[in-house]
Amino acid sequence: MQIFDVHTHMQDKRYIKGYDSVLKRAVKNSVVKMMCCGLHEYDWDQVLDITNEAPEIYPAFGIHPWFVEDRSSNWLDILEEKLLATTASVGEIGIDKVVLNSKKEENTQEMVFTEQLKLAKKLNRPVNIHCRNAWGKLIEIIDNTGLPDRGGLVHSYSGSHEMVKVLEKRGLMISFSGSVTKINNKKARKAVLSVSDKMLLIETDSPDINPEGITGLNEPKYILKNLETIAELRGKSMEEIASITFENSLRLFD
Ligand SMILES: [Zn+2]
Repeated sequence: MQIFDVHTHMQDKRYIKGYDSVLKRAVKNSVVKMMCCGLHEYDWDQVLDITNEAPEIYPAFGIHPWFVEDRSSNWLDILEEKLLATTASVGEIGIDKVVLNSKKEENTQEMVFTEQLKLAKKLNRPVNIHCRNAWGKLIEIIDNTGLPDRGGLVHSYSGSHEMVKVLEKRGLMISFSGSVTKINNKKARKAVLSVSDKMLLIETDSPDINPEGITGLNEPKYILKNLETIAELRGKSMEEIASITFENSLRLFD
């Protein structure tokens, strides 16, 4: 079995001994490829270093909606430079209405997301999107700006099962994290069933979003829990879901 974890933050400082041992345990548990997403300009070099050292880990550069206020004045030029120097994807980018403090911050989030989407489209790099409580706005921005031809994914999907079809129609794949393993997360469990085989992806968002029953820091190896839940819900074997999602990840990123 081969598994692709399409959304991690292996550069996270909470991995105090670095990513190496986390990666070893991942590979031992069949997680043979991982996407490492940047959060802001100040971790892009770490993401690059990790992905240069470890061929199993792919880079993505972007500014996460929580960190838009930390950006420098020439952030967009720096991002373009980083992307042109590599084959990286664009992520983690998006909009998050759960954490907003002001109207100004909301406008900034939307502007920073739109600019990154435009750049991804211009360079035709896949996008790794974060969206919480902002589905209408997300669709509005995507329809106004467009998506790269290579498409992208919505990570740790928390939308409705109806929204799955709206996103798929625009070419976005749907990725599920450990939140589907929570028995009371009926919304995500219903959404898992609406995703087409060719648009389904899995992830951990390590070191966050622990699956049910796992304490401490999350790691890519715990994706097996997410895989087990998704396989059960869809009435397939874990091997089948691993294979489908691995193929989809390669089609998106390679
Ligand atoms: Zn993330």
